[in-house]
Amino acid sequence: MQSKKRRLMVVAVAAAVVVVGWAGDALGKGGGERAPVVQAAKSNIDPTYRTVFFSVLEGLYDDGASNEFVDLVLQNDPETGTAMHFIPGCPLCLPSLDALRVYRERAGLSLKIGNTFGRGIEAELVAGIKSESMHQRLEVVETLVARYVARRLDSQRLTDEERGEWRMRMAERRKKGEAYMREMQRAGRAGAFADQKRCGVCDGANEAFDLFD
Ligand SMILES: [Zn+2]
Repeated sequence: MQSKKRRLMVVAVAAAVVVVGWAGDALGKGGGERAPVVQAAKSNIDPTYRTVFFSVLEGLYDDGASNEFVDLVLQNDPETGTAMHFIPGCPLCLPSLDALRVYRERAGLSLKIGNTFGRGIEAELVAGIKSESMHQRLEVVETLVARYVARRLDSQRLTDEERGEWRMRMAERRKKGEAYMREMQRAGRAGAFADQKRCGVCDGANEAFDLFD
C-alpha cells in the first residue's frame, strides 16, 4: 500500500514536471525556441510617413484640438484650391495633412468627456492660427508638428544611431518639400506660399530633435 502510494506520487510529480516544462517552452522560458510573436504582415508604407502621421494624430488627441482650430489649420487657399499651410507633394506635409483630416473626421468615444482627450490647444496658438499673417500661421503649424514628432520619437527611446537616422530622413524630406515650394513659386502657383521661404511642417519635424535629449 505504502509503495503503491509512493509510485503514484512519483508519477504525479513526473507529470507535473512535464507540464511545467511544456508551459515553460510555450512561454519561451524553457530554453526551447521562442515562439514567433503573432503579427500581421508588415506594412510597406514609408516609415517616415507613418511616424509623422501617427505623431500628429496622437498629438491632436493628446492636446484635445478643437474642430474649429483644426478647420483653421486645414483651410484652403482660395488662389490654389489646396490646403493653405501645406506644400502639395511635400513628404512631411502630406502625412501631417492626412492626420489632421483623419482627426477631423474622428468617431465618438465611449468616454463622457467627448471625442478627444486633452483640454484644447493653448490660447496663444489659437490666436496665431487666426492671424492675417501666413508667416505667423506657419509658426503655429511648426510649433505643433515639432511638439508632436518630438513626443513620439522620444517615447521610442531611440539610440544615438537611430536618432541620427531619423534626423537624416527628416532633413532629406524637408529638402524635397522646399524644392516643391520653390518650383511652385517659380511657376507662379504658390498661392499663400508665394513670399515664404520655408515650410512650417518641415521645419517643425526637423526641430523636433531639439526638444528632447
Ligand atoms: Zn513640408
